[in-house]
Amino acid sequence: MKHRIVVLGAGYAGAFSAGYLARQLHPDDFEITVVNAEPDFVERLRLHQLAAGQELRHRPLDEVFADTGVRLRVARVTAVDVEERTVTVADGDAIDRLGYDTLVYALGSTAADQGVPGVHEHAFHVAARPSALRLRTRLDELGEDGKVLVVGGNLTAIEAATEFAESRPGLRVGLVTSGQLGGWLGAKARRHLLRAFERFDISVHEHTTIGRVEKDAAVATDGTVFTSDATVWAAGFAVHPIAAASGLEVIANGQITVDRQMRSVSHPDVYVAGDSVFVIGENGRPLPMSCASAGFTAMQATAAIIGDRTGRKIATTSLSYVGNHISLGRKDGIFQLVGGDAHAKSWALCGRTAARVKSTILDTAAWSLSHPTFGKPSHKYRAAAALEHSPRVVAA
Ligand SMILES: Cc1cc2nc3c(=O)[nH]c(=O)nc-3n(C[C@H](O)[C@H](O)[C@H](O)COP(=O)(O)OP(=O)(O)OC[C@H]3O[C@@H](n4cnc5c(N)ncnc54)[C@H](O)[C@@H]3O)c2cc1C
Repeated sequence: MKHRIVVLGAGYAGAFSAGYLARQLHPDDFEITVVNAEPDFVERLRLHQLAAGQELRHRPLDEVFADTGVRLRVARVTAVDVEERTVTVADGDAIDRLGYDTLVYALGSTAADQGVPGVHEHAFHVAARPSALRLRTRLDELGEDGKVLVVGGNLTAIEAATEFAESRPGLRVGLVTSGQLGGWLGAKARRHLLRAFERFDISVHEHTTIGRVEKDAAVATDGTVFTSDATVWAAGFAVHPIAAASGLEVIANGQITVDRQMRSVSHPDVYVAGDSVFVIGENGRPLPMSCASAGFTAMQATAAIIGDRTGRKIATTSLSYVGNHISLGRKDGIFQLVGGDAHAKSWALCGRTAARVKSTILDTAAWSLSHPTFGKPSHKYRAAAALEHSPRVVAA
C-alpha cells in the first residue's frame, strides 16, 4: 500500500510542497493528492490588482502539476479528523472523505473581521479571489464616481488604497487606521509613502478605530461617520477555523503550533506551512504571514516529510524575515529592509525600481511552483520502514 500524502491548499505553501514532494519521492511508494478550492493557482499578492480591474495571468493547477503524478482534487475542505486521519471535502453537493497517512495543512488565511459588527455583511475584502471579484463588480458599478474607504494601515491596506486610486482616478479613496499609516517603516520609506498618498489624493485618518460597518458607512468608536460606497476591510488576516475545530493544537488566532520541523506538536503526522503555521523565526519572533514565510515553512515541512518517511537527514531551512516589499500602484513601490529585531532599517529602496523588484519577486514566486527544485535534479527516494521522528523537536 502506498503512503498517502494529502496536501490541503495549493497556494504558495501548498503548491510548492506538493510539487516538491512529487519530484523527490518515489511514485511506487507515495501517492500525493492536493485539494484546493479553485482550479487555478491564485496569486494572492496581486488580488488588490484584480479588485482594481486588472487581469491576472491565468495559472491552471493542472499545468502547474503537469507530469508530476500529483493528483488534483478541486473541492472545498470542510473538516479534518486528525484521529481518524481523514479530510472531508465538498464538491458542489457531493461530500467525500479522503484518508491520509501524512497531511500537509496549507489552507492559508482569510480577512480577520476583528469581531467588528457589520464587516461580514457590508464590507469587501481582497484576501481571496471570489471576494476580490465581488469588490471589482462594486467598483465597476460606481464607475468614475464614488467613495471607497479602506480600513487598515498595514501592507494590504496600503497596497489596496494606492492601487484603487491609480487604476480608478475618478474615485475618492480614503483610509482609516487605528494606528499610524506605515508607522513601522523607516524615516525614508515613510516619507515616500506619505508623498505617494498625497500624490494619489488619498485622505488619511490615523488613530481612528472603526467600531461598526454599515451598508453605506463605517462608524468609528468615537462616533465619527465615514460615508462610503464600498468599505474595504484590510485590518489583518485570520486563519480558517478548520484547524482549531479539528483538535490540532492552535494558538488564540487559530494558527497551528508546530515544532522546528513544521510538525504539529499535537499530531506529528500533520505538517503545517504558510499563513496557517505558528512558528518562531530566527529573530525570536513569530514568523509573519507572508509569501516569504510560506516559502521557508514549506521548504522546512517538505524536508521533514522526506526525512521522516525515507530516513534521510533533515535539512534545516532558515526561518528569517528580511523585509517588506510594498506596491504603490504599478509604477511606484517601497522595499524596506528589517533587521533581526524585526525593526525597519534606515535603508529602503523606493520608487519605480522598487516596483520592478516587487514585480520580479512575484513572478519568480509563481514560477517556482512549477519549478520547485529551482533547476536542481529531482530524486525518487524510496520509503523507509518504521522510522522514528527526529529528536530535534523544539517547542514553538
Ligand atoms: C492583497 C494581498 C496582498 C499581499 N501582499 C503581500 C506582499 O506584498 N508580500 C507578502 O509577503 N505577502 C503578501 N500577502 C500575504 C500573502 O498572500 C500570504 O501570506 C500568502 O499567500 C500565504 O501563502 P499560503 O500558501 O499560506 O496561503 P494562500 O496563498 O492563501 O493559499 C491557500 C490556498 O488554500 C486554498 N483554500 C483555502 N481554504 C480552502 C478550503 N476550505 N478548501 C480548499 N482550499 C482552500 C485557497 O484557495 C488557496 O489556494 C498579501 C495578501 C493579500 C491578500
